[in-house]
Amino acid sequence: MTNVSPSSSPLDWTSLPTGQHRHRFGNATLGFDAWIWRGAPGPVLLVNGATHGDEYEGPTLLRQWIDTWNPTDLRGTVILVPVLNEAAFGARQRFHPVDGENLARAFPGTGDGSSTSQLAHLFDTKVLAHATHYVDLHSGGLALELHPWVGYIVGGGTERNATQRAMAACFDSFWCWAGPFLPGRTLSAAFTRKVAAIYTECRGAGGVLPEDLAALNRGLQNLLIELGCVAGPKPTLADQPFHQSIEAEETHLQAHHPAPHAGTFEPLVELRDTVEATAKLGSVQPDDGGPSTAIYAETGGTIVLRRYEPAVQSGDALFVIVPL
Ligand SMILES: [Zn+2]
Repeated sequence: MTNVSPSSSPLDWTSLPTGQHRHRFGNATLGFDAWIWRGAPGPVLLVNGATHGDEYEGPTLLRQWIDTWNPTDLRGTVILVPVLNEAAFGARQRFHPVDGENLARAFPGTGDGSSTSQLAHLFDTKVLAHATHYVDLHSGGLALELHPWVGYIVGGGTERNATQRAMAACFDSFWCWAGPFLPGRTLSAAFTRKVAAIYTECRGAGGVLPEDLAALNRGLQNLLIELGCVAGPKPTLADQPFHQSIEAEETHLQAHHPAPHAGTFEPLVELRDTVEATAKLGSVQPDDGGPSTAIYAETGGTIVLRRYEPAVQSGDALFVIVPL
């Protein structure tokens, strides 16, 4: 394919010719770079990383694809945005360094709000609005470690549900978590626009696991075949453990097993451990040397999230348990 640009011109990317293009959305201080492969008419697949600035798996994977992917006979359009939240990524922190806001709570955003709100609005109106399929690549970042999963929002109708389930199945190294609509997310904006959408959550724990990168890589390859963007035999997919949450609260990662006060977190259980309800999971030692406070399981199930960073503030989520 011909490498056109780099371009920061305000051209309508949907009219770009066949080939590979680099395109800047927004301006130098508020925007993001996208790599766009245009093929024959077909699906429009959008994939991004670093909605949160401390998550490195998505950016690493997508940059590898940008460096090496040279499809022939591409059907449709593929848009890769390695780093959506550039300011947060540059600052090596989860949230935007200027306004302190969480981009994953800011959608659909506004054109005249905070930097984070404007970024959400830019992505939603200029990119997501033109997609037919969407993948948002997340991870536990610097503070958390996760038993990796792929998820989506249910409730958009039988057809979209089936499409999203099939998209999620492509990431067959991960377990699958379907849940109800939660506001503010990239997937909420996709849901409102009736775009079939999934997200992935990799281990995090301050780094990038090679097996997570391999799992994402395989998932993206599978997805391109599933959507018919590239030719190839349908892959044989592994069965995924599956859980569907009915209550939105269950899928709200920041709401479970909160630290009772600031201090040092000392876990007693490992990621992926199966625990009984009321089991002791760990404790938080206060900084003033007072007695530690024990953390007990809210429910029985598998530990899918564990706090990684030992220093905690009051209210920080320490564990999430899912009945897998
Ligand atoms: Zn994230």
